Amino acid sequence: MTAPSPQGPHGSQGPHGSQGPPTPRGGRTQEEIRRGNLGALLRHVHLNGPVSRSALAGRMGLNRSTIMALTAELTAAGLVREELPADTRRAGRPSLVVRPESGRVYVLAFDVRVDRLVAARVGLGGVILDRREAVRRRRADADLDDVVGVLAEFGRELRREADPGSVCAGVGAAYCGMIRPADGTVRYGPYMGWVDQAFGDELAAGLGLPVSVGNEAHLGALAEHERGAGVGFDNLVYLHGDVGVGGGIIVGGRLLGGDGGYGCELGHMVINPYDGRPCMCGSRGCLEAEVGEHALIDAAGRSGELTGREGVRAVVAAAGHGDEAAAEALRRIGDWLGIGVANLINLFNPGLVIFGGMLRDVYPGSAEHVRRRVEANVLLISRERVRLRVSALGDDATLIGAAELAFSPLMAGPLEALAHLR
Ligand SMILES: [Zn+2]
Repeated sequence: MTAPSPQGPHGSQGPHGSQGPPTPRGGRTQEEIRRGNLGALLRHVHLNGPVSRSALAGRMGLNRSTIMALTAELTAAGLVREELPADTRRAGRPSLVVRPESGRVYVLAFDVRVDRLVAARVGLGGVILDRREAVRRRRADADLDDVVGVLAEFGRELRREADPGSVCAGVGAAYCGMIRPADGTVRYGPYMGWVDQAFGDELAAGLGLPVSVGNEAHLGALAEHERGAGVGFDNLVYLHGDVGVGGGIIVGGRLLGGDGGYGCELGHMVINPYDGRPCMCGSRGCLEAEVGEHALIDAAGRSGELTGREGVRAVVAAAGHGDEAAAEALRRIGDWLGIGVANLINLFNPGLVIFGGMLRDVYPGSAEHVRRRVEANVLLISRERVRLRVSALGDDATLIGAAELAFSPLMAGPLEALAHLR
């Protein structure tokens, strides 16, 4: 049996043959415009939740009869439903509210972290309907078959327990390493010891479904941009701490992928080359070597004690209780983190920098030192408006990002994607 080939998020969707005469609007046919509008409307409801037809008309710049026709098609397909608004006291005919069919259309989302495997069934609208987690006790030398085995079993359970008649619209996975977008191969996952492992193909075979895989920090950045702290910011930098540090940079509303999709490795920005700490990548003085889990725990004098998120939180808690070594460790991490952030602000002029993953725990105790570096090292004009915030989606940012990756074909062409599934 051959495994279904995984699709990238930008894979070809639907037929390309054009029907009907070209129209003046950029050469798009009426059919292409309708398809684009269906996707845009579904995406609105998916990202913003229940919204009235009249609000949709305003936001999409379409008239109400067009909205009604589009909504009717999406309703017939089982993607949305319409209902009277809860508050109907106002005079006149109320505008129906369009709501995503979260229980009927879902995706499977997986998140492979260094210490934890997470799986979830996520309904249209971004609702986590059910989830499974497994703790990984041993970090290095993770076996591909073992990891895929756990995730595939979680996936089968989540599908078995879904409502009968509901549809799985896609599968997305976030992985803590460098991912080849075309087939979800893990090119390099240092903390699990993976080099060129066919993770996407194997997970697809285990589930019997196509799987899209992305770098965890890229997906976290997209999730924060669409649903979290970054809503409304089209230029932002997201820093994701796990054991190391990953990143995602959104420029003009789009993720900066780079030539092969391996861009935004912010953790390997060299900030301390002469006497910096050795990095897992073989270099020295990388940002993640100076601000990651090991740097923090070592600086607090707690090497050999707790590791992982528990170890990080123990340092943060100790600093809060007056442990001077722990507080000094946070300040030290804040200084290095600030150097990295200052470089990023000068380079990309973001409106927002978001600290996610374990950096969400670290940032409050190190914020003052991060800000000092930003003030000292960022060009005045570039720091006039930039804001620094912690992630709004917390540890689920990467999982939600994986779900959005899985939903992307449905958003690109709702009816075609469904026809393909049924
Ligand atoms: Zn490195």
